[in-house]
Amino acid sequence: MFINHDYIENLLEKSKQATKEEIDSILDKADLHKGLSHQEIAILLQTEDEKQLKRIFKIAGNIKKSIYGNRIVVFAPLYISNYCVNNCKYCGYKRDNNFSRNRLSMKQIQEEVRILEKMGHKRLALEAGEDPVNCPIDYVLDSIEAIYNTKLDNGAIRRINVNIAATTVENYEKLKAKEIGTYILFQETYHKEIYEDVHPKSIKGDYEYHLTAFDRAMTGGIDDVGGGVLFGLADYKYEVLGLMLHNEHLEKEFGVGFHTISVPRLKKADGMTMEEFPYLVSDEEFKKIVAIIRLAVPFTGMILSTRESVEMRQEVIKYGISQVSAGSCTGVGGYKEHEMGMAKDQFELADHRSPMEVLKSLMKYGYIPSYCTACYRNGRTGDRFMRLAKSGQIQHVCQPNAMMTLMEYALDYGDEEFMDMAEKVIEQEVSNISKQKIKDLLINNLERLRNGERDLFL
Ligand code: SAM
Repeated sequence: MFINHDYIENLLEKSKQATKEEIDSILDKADLHKGLSHQEIAILLQTEDEKQLKRIFKIAGNIKKSIYGNRIVVFAPLYISNYCVNNCKYCGYKRDNNFSRNRLSMKQIQEEVRILEKMGHKRLALEAGEDPVNCPIDYVLDSIEAIYNTKLDNGAIRRINVNIAATTVENYEKLKAKEIGTYILFQETYHKEIYEDVHPKSIKGDYEYHLTAFDRAMTGGIDDVGGGVLFGLADYKYEVLGLMLHNEHLEKEFGVGFHTISVPRLKKADGMTMEEFPYLVSDEEFKKIVAIIRLAVPFTGMILSTRESVEMRQEVIKYGISQVSAGSCTGVGGYKEHEMGMAKDQFELADHRSPMEVLKSLMKYGYIPSYCTACYRNGRTGDRFMRLAKSGQIQHVCQPNAMMTLMEYALDYGDEEFMDMAEKVIEQEVSNISKQKIKDLLINNLERLRNGERDLFL
């Protein structure tokens, strides 16, 4: 098995003895923006030295800028069912929690999607609890189809990433056939003993089955997979090494590692208290985690949710986050209920701003919010995406695409202030584009958008 407990523990122990010179030379290597091995990451995780930490943040910031420019991809989660047969100690949807459960009908899904489209969303993460009877794969597949088919005015969901429980190769093939974007699954914790403790007597409690889900997903033809751990369940150093080993395993077996890594931190939920969890991650540690992952896997997108506060989101965007959720509800039917002021959430959120507020704030701090879905729709997935990303070529399409989706948003959903901000950002960015052919294409496409055309991308 690619996660070996003794190996991780030994490596963490051994890495404590690294000299200043060794750490400096790892940081020199990180500065080449080509990534680091898990052995090197083990050493960086042990660093407490102020000067070295400062350098880690600086390099992470540089990698972020040179690979992702100033773009931040924006998405929202959509919860379709809170039926759950598992009893995860940390989760508000655990089976022991007594509340009236539901799953959305196709009509209700369409209602939720229309609300999300009215907010300007183009990318969703579909979320569901695990329940083979009340939430079978066919229901998930129908939901995906319903989402893609729901259009409101110029609104459309163009990419659905799916975060459902570990399943079979056959089910992954079915998800692939429905044209999902990334299949996302959090390992929650790589620490087997803790994993089994926090997932008592349940389907999800099978550590090996959960750990090998991406192998089955990739065997089933899904080539973009998104990993993550729930930070706060076990020692964060152990978890980051787990992520690295998992990524290296996928690279070796399938030629491509994680498309994205999510960094959720444990939040208060019904039926649990934070005091039950001894490994909670402090804000300082959290920033270090994000920066070190950025050094380790420069081309893997990093996702941050509204579990984090506005301030923390602004901070870690600098060091590595490339995708953020906005305007999120984590309840089933939450968007409609939110409008009516009565949602049952899976856990507490810290950023309650609307997407428009999030987008404005991103622009204010010099970022370009992007709803781009072009790579996936042009077949730039899996190793094809990674090759383009690693060659730096991807910049030439990402930047113009981000601006086109920003213009679309401004035209369809923005207020006057938004339009002013967007126009300024776009003008500035157009002038920064060095390739004349791409500049001309972009200017032409922006004009076509102003004239009412939609969904243009390179
Ligand atoms: N049922 C699917 C599974 O088993 O992977 C999807 C899980 S759920 C809809 C999405 C994620 O929410 C979980 O993987 C977990 O990491 C996260 N989550 C659950 N409880 C949480 C809490 N109290 N605080 C923060 N995140 C939590």
